[in-house]
Amino acid sequence: MLEFENMLHNEFTEPQFLFLFYAIVFLFGICVGSFLNVVILRLPRHESLIKRSSHCMTCGTKIRACDLIPVFSWIFLRGKCHSCGEKISVRYPIVESLNGLMYVLTFYVLDFNAESIIACVLMSLLIIVGFMDWDTMEIDMIVVGLIFLLAVPAAIFTDKVSLGQRIIGAFIISLPFYVIGEISRIFIRKKTGEDFRAIELGDTVLMFAAGALLGTKAIIVSALFGIVIAAIVGCINKYVTGSSKFAFGPFLSIGIAIGVLWGDRIANWYLNMLTAPIQ
Ligand SMILES: [Zn+2]
Repeated sequence: MLEFENMLHNEFTEPQFLFLFYAIVFLFGICVGSFLNVVILRLPRHESLIKRSSHCMTCGTKIRACDLIPVFSWIFLRGKCHSCGEKISVRYPIVESLNGLMYVLTFYVLDFNAESIIACVLMSLLIIVGFMDWDTMEIDMIVVGLIFLLAVPAAIFTDKVSLGQRIIGAFIISLPFYVIGEISRIFIRKKTGEDFRAIELGDTVLMFAAGALLGTKAIIVSALFGIVIAAIVGCINKYVTGSSKFAFGPFLSIGIAIGVLWGDRIANWYLNMLTAPIQ
């Protein structure tokens, strides 16, 4: 893989080439994002992902081929159904452009190599996990299974993380999450009689899968960012709605995205700071 090092960002790269490359990556990303919308919508309802063509959620009219262009169609239609005029959720173009932007960001940070291609697949899976958990408070085990399986091509085609790091990475966050979940379950049952955990099993399995893919350092960074962002949003949510129950998955997904892009750099920066001689 060494011959591909810094393929995008070296002294010979023309700015025009970079612009064209990122434009194509973004357009490809929003097309994949369009499919992610279908998955986020249909997977919780156990509907076929390919059988039925896209239709308006209000009037059921089949969407015309010319209105299926990601992001752009939504803008041209001013967010309204061509047939019944009912509003089309702004979330569709948001998911599409988010996926496109994450692909661009991934190639920008990690350059063009096996690692960044795997990271792009991970970004799309994280978008599915995050939005589905936000909607249903449930993390889909098929999607988490795919994240875990990504560790196989990562182990074959990249050499950044050793097998030992993958095994430790899988357990270093998921195990404490599991223990905290089980202990909280006992306390919550005693206090309220309800049966739920402070950290759900879905979140635990997500960190297991992502840990196997990212390795020890990056998954610790992922967890820290995920927990801090969730804590901030949780406090705001508690203040606004009075409820302390909210989906953890979207924030863990953001944390994992940070971990895959900058995890090793952040961890090494921190370790260097600890071991640097005092001036
Ligand atoms: Zn309609």
